[in-house]
Amino acid sequence: MDIADLLSFKSLVAVTVFAVLAAAERLRPAARRLPDESRVARNLGLWVVNAGVSVAFVIPISAAAAGIDHGLRPAWLSGWTGLVLDLLLLDLLIYWWHRANHKVPWLWRFHAVHHLDRFLDVTTAVRFHAGEVVLSAIVRAAIVIAAAMPLSSVLVCETLLLAATTFHHSNLRIGARVEAMIARVFVTPSIHWVHHDAASRADRDANYATILSLWDHLFRSRAPGRRTADFAVGVDHLEDTGMIRLLLRPFMRASP
Ligand SMILES: [Zn+2]
Repeated sequence: MDIADLLSFKSLVAVTVFAVLAAAERLRPAARRLPDESRVARNLGLWVVNAGVSVAFVIPISAAAAGIDHGLRPAWLSGWTGLVLDLLLLDLLIYWWHRANHKVPWLWRFHAVHHLDRFLDVTTAVRFHAGEVVLSAIVRAAIVIAAAMPLSSVLVCETLLLAATTFHHSNLRIGARVEAMIARVFVTPSIHWVHHDAASRADRDANYATILSLWDHLFRSRAPGRRTADFAVGVDHLEDTGMIRLLLRPFMRASP
């Protein structure tokens, strides 16, 4: 597979996972939907912006980082072994990057745009400030360069990260026993919704993991709460706004 094929594969998987989970969460919703559907247009608007940012910055940054070969990657780090270890490394890095986004005030200015959504479904998974998307790409690039990851590894990992993010934001109802089984290995919607708790700062500053649930156990950031049918999502003292104001928000003086 060449890089064009891998990019097509990434897009195809992303769109398929999004469409399947969007249909599934309509058929089996876990929480009652807000009557305000304008948030969906806002979230998809940010997705369009981020798709442009992805083409202009993220893909070139990833490709450039993966093109740097300092010759220090051990030969045994190839094939499936290399792919699995690269995935573990990136998932771990993204855990700490996400944690930093909550703890470092200027990073929170960007990440808050994601948390201001007053409901969660698959569209929240693509609702990020373009600044956060670019910053994330730069941070990922650092580890890609350090580990001399091949571009194929990076694209497969990004595809899985995107699929996991879509899954754990979804409003899909999963039986408690099945969800508990999945949660032993992967981050489920019930785990991640707690991270979007409107009222509890302690819960928001927990459950940072993206793919594997083990990181929150390992670094003692797992909140025990669960998603309920009337779960309050957002940030209690902060209002959601239109798309343009969301994009300007990190740069406004009053923005907390
Ligand atoms: Zn967060």
